[in-house]
Amino acid sequence: MNTAFQGVGVAGARLIAVGTAHLLAPTPIPITTETITADRIEAELRRLDKALDSARCHLERVRRQIPADTAAPIDELISTHLLMLTDSALVDATRDLIRSQHINASWALQMQRDLLIEVFNEMEDPYLHARRDDVDHVVRQIQSFLTNETAQTVDSFAQIELSGKIVVAKDLTPAEIILLRQRGMDALVTEYGGPSSHTAILARSLDIPTVLGVYNATQYLIHGELLIVNADAGSVIATDDPLTIAVYRERHLALEAQREILRRLIREPSISRDGVPVVLLANLELSEDVRAAQENGASGVGLYRTEFLYLNHDHLPDEEEHLANYLAIIAGLDGLPLTIRTLDLGLDKHVKYIADTLPALTNPALGLRAIRLCLRHPELFVPQLRAILRASAAGPVRLMIPMISTLAEVETVLQMLHTARRSLRRDGLGFDPLMPIGAMIEVPAAALMAETLARRLDFLSIGTNDLIQYTLAIDRMDDSVSYLYEPLHPAILRLLRGIIEAAARSRTRVSMCGEMAGDVRYTRVLLGLGLRELSMQPGSLLAVKNVVRACDISYLKYTMETLFCDIDELPPQQLLDQLAAVDQPSYH
Ligand code: PEP
Ligand code: MG
Repeated sequence: MNTAFQGVGVAGARLIAVGTAHLLAPTPIPITTETITADRIEAELRRLDKALDSARCHLERVRRQIPADTAAPIDELISTHLLMLTDSALVDATRDLIRSQHINASWALQMQRDLLIEVFNEMEDPYLHARRDDVDHVVRQIQSFLTNETAQTVDSFAQIELSGKIVVAKDLTPAEIILLRQRGMDALVTEYGGPSSHTAILARSLDIPTVLGVYNATQYLIHGELLIVNADAGSVIATDDPLTIAVYRERHLALEAQREILRRLIREPSISRDGVPVVLLANLELSEDVRAAQENGASGVGLYRTEFLYLNHDHLPDEEEHLANYLAIIAGLDGLPLTIRTLDLGLDKHVKYIADTLPALTNPALGLRAIRLCLRHPELFVPQLRAILRASAAGPVRLMIPMISTLAEVETVLQMLHTARRSLRRDGLGFDPLMPIGAMIEVPAAALMAETLARRLDFLSIGTNDLIQYTLAIDRMDDSVSYLYEPLHPAILRLLRGIIEAAARSRTRVSMCGEMAGDVRYTRVLLGLGLRELSMQPGSLLAVKNVVRACDISYLKYTMETLFCDIDELPPQQLLDQLAAVDQPSYH
């Protein structure tokens, strides 16, 4: 029999795991609630300090155990938790409760935890919402030392052998995930956590096929039963059916074999069958992703989303922090180009500093977002512009502006860059005076006036994620209209063709960095439309290269031209089929 559960799939390179369930359902730490007399307050405060100290030592120890080749975000997660151990909203407030309410430390800590969780629960921003988990993790750690329930801590995992096992848990701290991975955990299923939670970040970095947010998983799944984790589909199947197991084992092996075949393409050139070179670049969200870009043979970075510099920190990064971050990527790229996109905050990504100054928006996608926000807040923008310019002295850097909708925005940024260059010269700081400046074309207005924009810029990059959202009037974050999200909608194809032709007329480079660029289903369409530069998640690079190498681009171009005659009436699948047929030798 098969029982399937649905959640949110998160995967690095491995998508499927088959193994036995290992349930980690820790019994709740007993929280004692005691009122204490005034003469015991000092002793209780000391007890809290001691527990905080032990939690700190414990986290330091976990940090030392992180394998050297693990991505840096993990280290950052532990640092965040260490910082929380000194955060006044947690620690001082708990101390105040002990003093003012005459209650024991465990109770005070729990009261403060509940208060903070309530505040986090009210936040709509998914990133901040996910930070609620951090409060919970840290409090759990302190409570375990306060109550001497150290068996609840990650140390207890050190004894478990987890090779070939799929861990099922309500929720895990980053430290726990690291230790469980070291014990051999093959895959993970949790009840809590969304796509931007720390669990998701870790699962990706550590390459653990994971399904998060499986409702009541620890109740429904049974210790020792056979599970199939399909991180691609976000599903968990509990099964004793030999046929299902065999099918998934085979699929797993097939995926592995396919990965192996693609891996052989790393050093092969990205050139079509008829000899046309196609530049394949990587999209980065964290500076640490540069390794994945290199490992998948990227020819550089076509989009570095700098928002994460803000979202993973509790303060606004200054010019030096920006610069250090960019220099780390430049060093990792070994002379390959880096395209740094200026801040795109304001839609699903907020930072407290800005959110506090803005009224609640009814429609953030159409509001003060990206370049609009940066022009409103030069104190945010100028340090980034200066840092990007300074980084250009260290390697080939390009600057890219998101969400351009008017020529005036471009002119203002160019003027600000001019001023920044002058001030850098005055400060005696170096930069590349010819650093290319480009804009993302992701608003229909910009697409329609692409030629004018291109004449003022060195390159254009098409952001299809937003271009599709704004052209088809569908909120890219709203599930209920996701069925309308059609990259092959004739209106999108017409806009793409218009942008590519406008760029060619003005002899300006044009690339694409939206998700469409990394989806192999669309590679032939994009090549047929004339694109020769695509930027995507590092994990898609080799699969796209594989398609490029199989294509005859001159035939694709010719076929695409013909199909455009009645593009408005051509169903998307028929368009794909016709272009795929071009690869068949019999067609020529
Ligand atoms: C896009 O809109 O296509 C894009 C690449 O930008 P983001 O997904 O960061 O909005
Ligand atoms: Mg965008």
